[in-house]
Amino acid sequence: KLPDKKVVDWKYATCGYCSTGCSIEVGLDKAGNAVTTRGVADAPVNKGKLCIKGLTEAAIFEAKGRGTDPLIRNHESEEWQKTDWDTAFDKTAAEFKRIQEKYGPDSVAVVSTGQILTEEFYTLGKLTRGLIGTNNYDGNTTLCMASAVSGYKRSFGSDGPPGCYDDFEHTNCLLAFGSNLPEQHPIIYWRLKEALEKRKFPIIVVDPRVTMFAQFADIHLPITPGTDLVLLNALAHVILKEQLEDRAYIEQSCNGAAEFGELVEEYNPEMAAEITGIDADMIRHVARLYANAGAAMSIWTMGINQSTHGSDGVCAINNLNLITGNIGKPGSTSLSITGQCNAMGTREWSSCSGLPGYRALENEEHRNEIGQFWNVDPEFFPKKRGMFMTDIFPAIERGEIKALWLVATNPMTSMPDTGRIRRIMEKLEFCVVQDAYEDVEANQYAHVFFPASVWAEKSGCFTNTERRVNIITPVKPPLANSKPDLWIFNQLAKRWDHAKKMSFPEDSAEVFEEMKWLSRGVQGNTNGPNGKPRMLNISGMTHEKILEQRGIQWPMAEGEETGTERLYTDGVFQYPDGKAKLLALPFNDNNEKPSAEFPFWLNSGRVVEHFHTRTRTGKVGNCNKFSPTPYMEINPDAAHQLGIENMEYVKLVSPRGDAVVMAQLTQRVPKDMVFIPFHYHDCVNRLSLGLLDPHSRQPAFKQAAVRVEKTDQQ
Ligand code: SF4
Repeated sequence: KLPDKKVVDWKYATCGYCSTGCSIEVGLDKAGNAVTTRGVADAPVNKGKLCIKGLTEAAIFEAKGRGTDPLIRNHESEEWQKTDWDTAFDKTAAEFKRIQEKYGPDSVAVVSTGQILTEEFYTLGKLTRGLIGTNNYDGNTTLCMASAVSGYKRSFGSDGPPGCYDDFEHTNCLLAFGSNLPEQHPIIYWRLKEALEKRKFPIIVVDPRVTMFAQFADIHLPITPGTDLVLLNALAHVILKEQLEDRAYIEQSCNGAAEFGELVEEYNPEMAAEITGIDADMIRHVARLYANAGAAMSIWTMGINQSTHGSDGVCAINNLNLITGNIGKPGSTSLSITGQCNAMGTREWSSCSGLPGYRALENEEHRNEIGQFWNVDPEFFPKKRGMFMTDIFPAIERGEIKALWLVATNPMTSMPDTGRIRRIMEKLEFCVVQDAYEDVEANQYAHVFFPASVWAEKSGCFTNTERRVNIITPVKPPLANSKPDLWIFNQLAKRWDHAKKMSFPEDSAEVFEEMKWLSRGVQGNTNGPNGKPRMLNISGMTHEKILEQRGIQWPMAEGEETGTERLYTDGVFQYPDGKAKLLALPFNDNNEKPSAEFPFWLNSGRVVEHFHTRTRTGKVGNCNKFSPTPYMEINPDAAHQLGIENMEYVKLVSPRGDAVVMAQLTQRVPKDMVFIPFHYHDCVNRLSLGLLDPHSRQPAFKQAAVRVEKTDQQ
C-alpha cells in the first residue's frame, strides 16, 4: 500500500544543505510524517524555487542509518552497545578529563562542522573554550572556506562577505573564479539568470574545466590549475598601466598602493600568458571590461580556496575590486560563495578560531569581555588560536592529540589522503562521533556515538553567503532517542563543576539573546576597531522578526527595522585606521604538477545531486538515481591514446594511493586533466594532496598529479 502523502500542514525552515540559504516549507501528513517540501514564494533568497536537494529533503528525516540511541563500544567484543545518554556523557567527560590530566589540556581536540545551528555553535564554543579548555578546536570549514576568511581578514581587517545576491541585478560585469554555480549553488545561478533576463552584462568564468557555468559564460578562461594569482596580478597590471583604476578610491580607502603597484608591474600579460595559459590579449580585454564596467563584481568558490595560494588568491580578488572601487556599491563586490548551510554561523559565533562575534584570542580586551560575560577566568583562554583541522590529524599521528570529538563531519571522505587519515584515526585513545547518522564512516573508529537530530527537528538559525540570518522551526520531533545538538552540548557541559557558575540556556531563542548582547558589546562598548559600531551586530534581530522577514542580513542594530545589504558602503574598513590593504602577492609555484610518472592533473568538484560526502543525499532516491556512482572525466584524445573506452573502469594512481572509477569521455576536460566528483567514499581523496595554504591551512585538493591505468577491477 502506498503511503498517504496528503499534506495537512506546512512548517517553515531554511534548507539544510548549501549556503545559498533557501527558505523551504516541509509538508506533513496527518500522522506528522514529513512527506514533501516546497520553496517559500515570498522568501527574498529563492522566491519559491528549490534545487533537487531541497526538493527531496523530506526524505532525510527517516533515512536509513539514522542514529536512534547513544552507543558505547564494548572493549572486549568491539561491538556497539546501546546505552543511555547519562552513561554516554559520563564516559565522554571522564575520558576527556583523564586524557587532559595525563597529556595536557590540548591533547583533546574538537572538530565540528558548517551544518549545525548558530546557537549550537555558540554553545559548543562556550563548552570547548570555557569548560573543556582545549585550544585545538576547529571546523571542517577549513576544508572549504578558510581561505576566504583569511583573505577577507587580510584585505579588509575582518571576515564578512561584503555583497549580496541583489548585486546581480546591478552589476555590469561578473568575473567568476573556480565557481560552478549551476551545479554547486543552483538557486544563486537562477538569481543570476533572472537578472540577465532583464539586462545583459558579460559573464567571465575562469576555470580549467568547461563546467556548466563556463558553457553559459560569454568568456571562458581555461586557466592552468593553481595559477589564478598570476592572472589576477596581470589584470591589475593592465588596469594600472592603462590608468583605468579608481585613484580617488585608492587614496581615500586603501593602504599599500605603492608596494602593490611595484609588484604587479612585473606581471605583464605576456609573462602571465606563459604561466596561466590564457592569451595575453584576452587578459587585456578582460581587465578593460572589468575596469570600465562602472559596476563590476567577482565571485569565487573552491577553485580559489582549495589551493596552496588560496588566501593570496582571495586577497588578489579583493585587490582587483579595491583598485577599481568595486566594493560596497550596488553591483560592485567581492563575494565568496560559501559552501555549507551554516559555514557562516561557525565563522561568526563558534569560537573555533577565536572568541564569538569575530573576537580574537590574541586581544586581551576581547578575552576579558568574554571571560566576564561567561563567568570564566580570562586567563583560562589561550592567547592565540590553536590548530586548524588539517593540523589536528598530523598532531594525532605524532601522538600529541589523544582524544577527538567529531561533530557532524566526515573526515574519512572529506580530508585529503584518506588512507593516511584512516591510519591516524586508529591511533586515538578515545573518539566521540556526534552525527545524525550512525553509519557515518568515522564511527568505525569511535568509542562513543551521540545520535543527533537532523536540521529541521531543531530550532535556531543559519547565516547564508550574503550574511542573511534565517530561521529553522522544528518541523517534527527528533527521531527516537536522538537529541538536538544544543541539548547534547548542554548536558555534556553539566559534567564540569564550573558549569554551575555559567549559563547554558536550553532554549535556542535564549541563546540568541546572549549572542545579541555580545554582538552589540557587553559593557556598552559598541565600537568596532575603527570607532564605528560593531560590524557583526545582530542586536536588532529576534527569532520572530527573522521568521517574519524570511531572513535578515547582518548588521542590524537595536532600533533598526531591517538588515544591511552591503558592507563598506562608506569606504571605511575594519582596520583601526579604517583603510583596506592592497597586498603585494608574489606567485611562488609550489603545486604538485603532472610529471612523466603521473602525467594528468587531478581536478575534483561537485555534482548538483549530491551534497558533500553523501551522508544524506546518498540515501535519497532521486539524488542517487541521477548520480549513483563516481566517475572520471577524461578527454577523448587522452583516452584514445591509453586505449580507454567510454564507461570502462580504470584505475587512477597518485603518490598517495589509488582508486577505481568509471571513465566518461568528454571534451569538458583538457587532454592533461581528469576530473572526479569528490562526494564518493574511498575515491578521489585517496589520491588528493595534503599540501596546505600557509595562511588558511586549507588543502590544495585541486592540484595533484595522477596516472590512469587499465584495470579488470570494478
Ligand atoms: Fe538547498 Fe542550496 Fe538547493 Fe537552495 S540551492 S535548495 S539552499 S541545496
